[in-house]
Amino acid sequence: MKKTITLLFTVLVGYAQAQTADSVTIRKIYDEALANGKSYDWLRYMTKQIGPRLSGSAGAQKAVDWTKQLMEKEGFDRVFLQDVMVPHWVRGAKEVAYIQNGKQKMTVPIAALGGSIATGPKGVEAGVIEVKSFPELRALGPDKVKGKIVFYNRPMDPTKINTFEAYGGAVDQRANGATEAAKLGAVGAIVRSMTNVRDDNPHVGGMRYGTGVPLIPTAAISTNAADLLSKSLAENPNLTFYFKQNCETLPDAKSYNVVGEIKGSDKPDEIIVVGGHLDSWDLAEGAHDDGAGCVQSIEVLRIMKALGIKPKRTIRAVMFMNEENGLRGGVQYADLAKKNNEKHIAAVESDNGGFTPRGFGIVGTPDQRAKVMPWKPLLAPYGLLEIGAGGGGADIGPLAQLGTVLFGFKPDSQRYFDYHHTTVDKFETVSQRELELGAASMAALVYLLDQYGL
Ligand SMILES: [Zn+2]
Repeated sequence: MKKTITLLFTVLVGYAQAQTADSVTIRKIYDEALANGKSYDWLRYMTKQIGPRLSGSAGAQKAVDWTKQLMEKEGFDRVFLQDVMVPHWVRGAKEVAYIQNGKQKMTVPIAALGGSIATGPKGVEAGVIEVKSFPELRALGPDKVKGKIVFYNRPMDPTKINTFEAYGGAVDQRANGATEAAKLGAVGAIVRSMTNVRDDNPHVGGMRYGTGVPLIPTAAISTNAADLLSKSLAENPNLTFYFKQNCETLPDAKSYNVVGEIKGSDKPDEIIVVGGHLDSWDLAEGAHDDGAGCVQSIEVLRIMKALGIKPKRTIRAVMFMNEENGLRGGVQYADLAKKNNEKHIAAVESDNGGFTPRGFGIVGTPDQRAKVMPWKPLLAPYGLLEIGAGGGGADIGPLAQLGTVLFGFKPDSQRYFDYHHTTVDKFETVSQRELELGAASMAALVYLLDQYGL
């Protein structure tokens, strides 16, 4: 009995000492990020000197070159590119749109959705059918819809506390609206922007066409203009809507994921990934989406080096290409990991904006999640209180099939969709402090994953 008690005591003391050592290291990680952090300067460069980075664009290539050079300059053990073919969609000349209500012509802001076809040089003009859902559209049937422009006007649910949930509840209109409308003979689809704010910015994003259905042009309309169109339709159901867009899908282009690595000292074959996506929408500087996630990921490795933390496992910062309109980079990364027989124990993604950290969502088995729970007291002092089952991230998603445990960095979500996929997703909307706290949060998690595995 005495022996057992002694053993238990030894284990407990050991555990307490480990916790103390970990809490000291995590404190140092935050100190380094907040006193000597580089992520904010890097983000300034990425947004102001490089700017929009849609797949296949010159900006995307510049971002590849620059992040590669940056990680080399930081002295990571290995920096390399992974080839990946990506979609190459271009917007062309700025869109034109107006509501023709009797003699009154009201110009409204729209932007073609990524992947959409053009309208042709004359544009499209037609009567408008407003709906809030696909069932409502189908109930109208082809008689009412044929030859019309379908206007999807279901807002993001403002009562959802997590705005990503509200986004998830509305984004089907953007992704599949054109196809559902075309099935009933519509000639175009106009979609209310995915945001809770009333503004004049069309919020763009990806869409896809279904097979065997005619392709019709589709665009996002600003929320203010969506409200105006809805109100005008209530007054005059016979008004018409005109829009012209000039976008085009070019042949796939060659691009790259950019990977920087610190080699593990003890278990170099076990890999921990921390990443974000390098591409952004063409209208946006891509500060929150996802320049923030990229610079935070590089900062995680820089912090480890600066503090002399020698990881047991190999830590990789991955800049994924083409999250926005294809996810080819994420798929390629997982394919290569499989092909090369790499063992990825965990992947952490930051793609929810550079806002105040709240926690991490975990995709893994209950046993794997249970292993993370003892770390909660170490992370709680830094505001990381929401740690549990949740979303990982689009780019790291394909790694799940290899048994990798996924972690989605969760910052506060309240302002994300104010800026999402618009011209206002700018450097100026990112707080240096919030960005740095995010980088430190990710570094603390990566440190613990490296110490204890999963
Ligand atoms: Zn993103």
